[in-house]
Amino acid sequence: MKQGLLIILSGPSGVGKGTIRKRIMLDPSLNLIYSVSMTTRKIRPGEEDGKDYFFVSQETFQKNINDNQFLEWAEFVGNRYGTPKAEIQKLRQAGKNVLLEIEINGAKQVISKATGPGLVTIFLMPPSFEALETRIRKRKTESEAIIQERLAKARREMNLHHDYQYLVVNDDVEKTSQQIIDIIKERMSSMQ
Ligand code: 5GP
Repeated sequence: MKQGLLIILSGPSGVGKGTIRKRIMLDPSLNLIYSVSMTTRKIRPGEEDGKDYFFVSQETFQKNINDNQFLEWAEFVGNRYGTPKAEIQKLRQAGKNVLLEIEINGAKQVISKATGPGLVTIFLMPPSFEALETRIRKRKTESEAIIQERLAKARREMNLHHDYQYLVVNDDVEKTSQQIIDIIKERMSSMQ
């Protein structure tokens, strides 16, 4: 059986990675499995443990670092986020395409480690900084101080797309999702 793809969807916080990820997961022909991350962040209303994230304590997260359980992990505005690596190789060997939706420092770690035709790296870019700010503020889930920190970080990250194979501007959920679906389909066919 041919090995599945490892797809990294990254970009600044607030660009809409989560929305796009949920939309492309709806396409069964992509044969996607979402890699659920572990985080020390508090659960937000509407989120589900084990589906959106594995919400864990600092101690549990640290134990996973010590036990070398992460493919990558990063600190993001006061919380830690990591990709558990146990399942990823098994799923890819079973032909599944594994999707990681992660921030930029974590993506950098995976890009430096994983190579080969199965790695697909996509940087999602907002149409403008203003559009990004509007999105982050609309979420209404964080305090002003955290919003400011996320915005400052996003501003620094906007230009870090050079390490990626694809740059996609998120100006419309449907259009952008379709562009990403097309990228994945093309790469699936090149693995055959
Ligand atoms: P949020 O707190 O908004 O859910 O996520 C904050 C940032 O962490 C987002 O950019 C999200 O994509 C990223 N993120 C989620 N899971 C992971 C992960 O496992 N590793 C890394 N490096 N970033 C992650």
